[in-house]
Amino acid sequence: SLSSEFVVVANRLPVDRVPGTGTGEGASWRRSPGGLVSAIAPVMRRREGTWVGWHGAPDEVLMPFETDGMKLVPVPQSSEDVELYYEGFSNATLWPLYHDVVAPPVYSREMWDAYVRVNERFAKAAARVASQGAIVWVQDYQLQLVPAMLRRLRPDLRIGFFLHIPFPPLELFWQMPWRRQILEGLLGADLVGFQLPGAASNFVRLCRRLLDARYNKQDVFWDDRVVRARAFPISVDVGELNDLIARPSVRERAEEIRTDLGDTTILLGVDRLDYTKGITQRLEAFGELFGDGHLKPGEAVLVQIATPSRERVEQYQLLRDQIEQQVGRINGEYGEIGFPVVHYMHTSYTRDELAALYLAADVMVVTPLRDGMNLVAKEYVACRADLRGTLVLSEFAGAAAELKRAYQVNPYDIDGLKDTLLMALNAEPAEQARRMRAMRKRVIEHDVDRWARDFLSSLEEPNSPSGPPL
Ligand code: UDP
Repeated sequence: SLSSEFVVVANRLPVDRVPGTGTGEGASWRRSPGGLVSAIAPVMRRREGTWVGWHGAPDEVLMPFETDGMKLVPVPQSSEDVELYYEGFSNATLWPLYHDVVAPPVYSREMWDAYVRVNERFAKAAARVASQGAIVWVQDYQLQLVPAMLRRLRPDLRIGFFLHIPFPPLELFWQMPWRRQILEGLLGADLVGFQLPGAASNFVRLCRRLLDARYNKQDVFWDDRVVRARAFPISVDVGELNDLIARPSVRERAEEIRTDLGDTTILLGVDRLDYTKGITQRLEAFGELFGDGHLKPGEAVLVQIATPSRERVEQYQLLRDQIEQQVGRINGEYGEIGFPVVHYMHTSYTRDELAALYLAADVMVVTPLRDGMNLVAKEYVACRADLRGTLVLSEFAGAAAELKRAYQVNPYDIDGLKDTLLMALNAEPAEQARRMRAMRKRVIEHDVDRWARDFLSSLEEPNSPSGPPL
């Protein structure tokens, strides 16, 4: 039966269609890569859980199916939903607003209406498959209205919500024309999880100021219930990465990358092509190091992978043009025959290829202007069992709270960024090892399994019965 005691609700199902295996009911599916899916899949199997989410094909209605030991309930989305709810309200409104307004958010009533409509569809689908008293775990910013909608339909459920991206301070959230609806949507949950304690505090403060809710530390009293706001920093699948770096093919590929690039220091950036990632600041700082003679062509190269992302949103098209112009200019100005200074790739890489790149890189450069966590930084650390390599990490990545031994930097400060890159480039092996050891301890002890376990055991804990302070 489809009915489950454990239900995950996320914008996407944890599977991708295998290309060339047909459409509709005839298609084959394989598990999507990434830590979230690998952390939740074992829990799904153990509890015979059901995952509610979109299957990735607009205008296609699919029946529920089972794969990889998981029950999957596809929620359809029309092309218009994709445009207005997904590319629109999720990625042109919420995404920039929640990332410090590094790009201006679009406030469109048409997009908001689509967001409400699609959230309602997800809530109804979850309400249909959850058994009496089931645990329902709702994921991320695309579905912030689902907790309250679901509670209205099914007051018997235990509902958790986790926000993978930052939660903004009150002063920014206040812009949102539908701020009250979003906050009330989240308050439908019993537990609202964030990456950082600061985000949980932002949320509690908003509840107090916007809704006049009573609260006690990180607990909000709402609608005769206690809603707990807590931090659960997400992490990477350390076991998977250990398997990858042990593979001879991955080690050989890392050697091959080193040989291809020649005798030089390799800096590496791996990001979705997104304006929150600070790619242009990174390029500016790196280029200037050649311009003012701190580096000579052949001494260092930056390998920048920019994975295609949200290509139909205008901001992303503009950013791509800007980055490509910058790369062209830097290589044109400082490159020499056989020694381009930036190797830029606008494609998506497989997990093995990424692991090989992590092993080949001397300096991992992670400089987001704002990032909920940044898994790439943790993946690099998890892969460097040899205790070599340095991590340059933005203070504005969630990961900075845990990776204190990274070379931390403010990416808006181009001079500071240049100095930090030079320091990381020149770090002695003993210093590299000292820092890497400390960072590895943290990542290994707090991997993604621990994240999922911590969230779920907190969700299953009964909320304190004590009422609000008078
Ligand atoms: N990733 C990948 N292929 C690529 C680029 C990235 O598989 O070509 C993975 C990367 O290993 C990481 C995730 O995508 O697990 C990116 O997560 P992160 O938190 O760094 O950034 P996000 O893209 O979620 O903003």
